[in-house]
Amino acid sequence: MKKNYDIVIIGGGITGLSAAWYLQQEAQAQGISLSYTLLEQSNRWGGKILTEEMATSPTAPPFIIEGGPDSFISQKPWALQLARELGLEDELLPTNDHKRKTFVLSKGRPMAFPDGVLLIVPTKILPFAKSRLISPLGKLRMGLDWFIPAKKDGADETLADFIKRRLGSEALDKIAEPLLSGIYNADAYKQSIMATFPRFRALEAKHGSLIKGMLASQRMRKAQAKTPPVNGNKKPISMFTSFDKGMQVLVDAVRARLTGDCQLETAVTKIEIRDQRIETGDQPPTYQLSFSDGRKIAAKNVILAVPAFAAARLVADLAPDAAGKLNEIRYVSTGTVSLAFRRNEVAHPLNGFGIVIPRSENRPINAITWSSTKFDKRAPKDHILLRVFIGGSRNPHMMAVDDEKLMTTVRQELKAIMDIEAAPVFHRIFRWDRSNPQYDVGHLERVEAIEEALPAGIFVTGSPYRGVGVPDCVHQAQQTAVAVIKEQLTPLPSLTQLDNIFTIA
Ligand SMILES: Cc1cc2nc3c(=O)[nH]c(=O)nc-3n(C[C@H](O)[C@H](O)[C@H](O)COP(=O)(O)OP(=O)(O)OC[C@H]3O[C@@H](n4cnc5c(N)ncnc54)[C@H](O)[C@@H]3O)c2cc1C
Repeated sequence: MKKNYDIVIIGGGITGLSAAWYLQQEAQAQGISLSYTLLEQSNRWGGKILTEEMATSPTAPPFIIEGGPDSFISQKPWALQLARELGLEDELLPTNDHKRKTFVLSKGRPMAFPDGVLLIVPTKILPFAKSRLISPLGKLRMGLDWFIPAKKDGADETLADFIKRRLGSEALDKIAEPLLSGIYNADAYKQSIMATFPRFRALEAKHGSLIKGMLASQRMRKAQAKTPPVNGNKKPISMFTSFDKGMQVLVDAVRARLTGDCQLETAVTKIEIRDQRIETGDQPPTYQLSFSDGRKIAAKNVILAVPAFAAARLVADLAPDAAGKLNEIRYVSTGTVSLAFRRNEVAHPLNGFGIVIPRSENRPINAITWSSTKFDKRAPKDHILLRVFIGGSRNPHMMAVDDEKLMTTVRQELKAIMDIEAAPVFHRIFRWDRSNPQYDVGHLERVEAIEEALPAGIFVTGSPYRGVGVPDCVHQAQQTAVAVIKEQLTPLPSLTQLDNIFTIA
């Protein structure tokens, strides 16, 4: 049976779920009623957000294991705002900031980042001067940032070029590459500064120097911190935030509040033009969606909240130019391995949030998070939980290694880096195939070209486009929902305009 929907959202990750939520919210605000359907090909909601509970004793609290994101950044306000809209304030879990310390592997041994290094920029002279992480020459080179004039043209550049230009090669190798490229699982020599860290370029443009810019931002934050919060009853929020029972809480809470038709195990295979008006003189839906089980539905608006390569397949016949550009967004695959240990079998003090590993160290793993130090409630009291990151642009070969060999390598790395010899109580491996979109230089222009090449009524949104983090996904979903409602409220295109759509198709 064919069904008509005003709006169809494809993809039940956090972007698709948030798009559905904000469609509801926006429709309510505008006083209109709309019908939508949300389609997800797998048998669960959340996409890359996946939390598992593992109980090892009937009396102790379970381990909370994250397969994908373990937190969201609260300085980008949208995920936090969504959590609050859903009434999750009491379930927010801050990081243990009194234990915050990040280590970087240097010649095989973990070395603490000096105090006062904000992201990549030293803002406290003494701890930075004392640190052995960067050589004396490297420190002098970083200090030159104070004097080097800002880049005048607005052209994009790679993260590597930007950091080398401002702070020098050692800062790139020891700090920026493991920290900043690590977030994107990216190659610093391809990664677009404008698409991934535009704030650094903005600081450079405004203050003529990253160090001056960071110091100015720090002063502003301190001044703001003295202003009492407007909503005095709200919990203090850490820079990275999760939920007591893990990130899946956000997914489940959104899903529970959705009133539309939400279908799991429904893979969309194709989107075609279908203008019912031409056939019957009725109101559109304009598009027809085919499912892998042969069903078809029609819609006026379609929101594609799926990976770019999946969106490309769906619009290949409808908008080949857009499909071509979508396929230009490269992906890498990543994985996480969570390991639980008895506390008394690991001598390491776990005195921080974990270790990032520069590419130059040539290790088969990319980073280790000390999950049960970073957050409370991740492991029972007498146990610890660690998470090892694999794959990405640095170690793609690790994704092809079978589970047994992978565990052998991971345990060898834990022994070499953290002196852990004990056997884990259990481990969980999560493999994410083609999971991380790569924002290569020119990414933002590519995204604009995709948006321009898509026919009216079809929207792409989420991690492949304007930010990979959970808050960015929620933000894009909200913006897309507002744009879709605007389209729903605008008069229908004339038949001449529709002819143009057919020409594109
Ligand atoms: C290991 C890892 C760690 C991460 N850590 C963090 C972190 O700590 N903090 C952070 O903010 N971000 C983190 N991220 C990034 C963040 O998790 C993702 O960018 C975000 O969850 C992507 O959400 P999404 O909804 O855009 O896409 P996805 O989660 O990929 O959802 C897309 C959905 O579309 C479905 N789909 C695809 N094709 C079709 C089709 N044809 N029909 C129907 N459904 C389809 C898929 O099954 C999937 O469920 C991490 C990512 C990974 C992989």
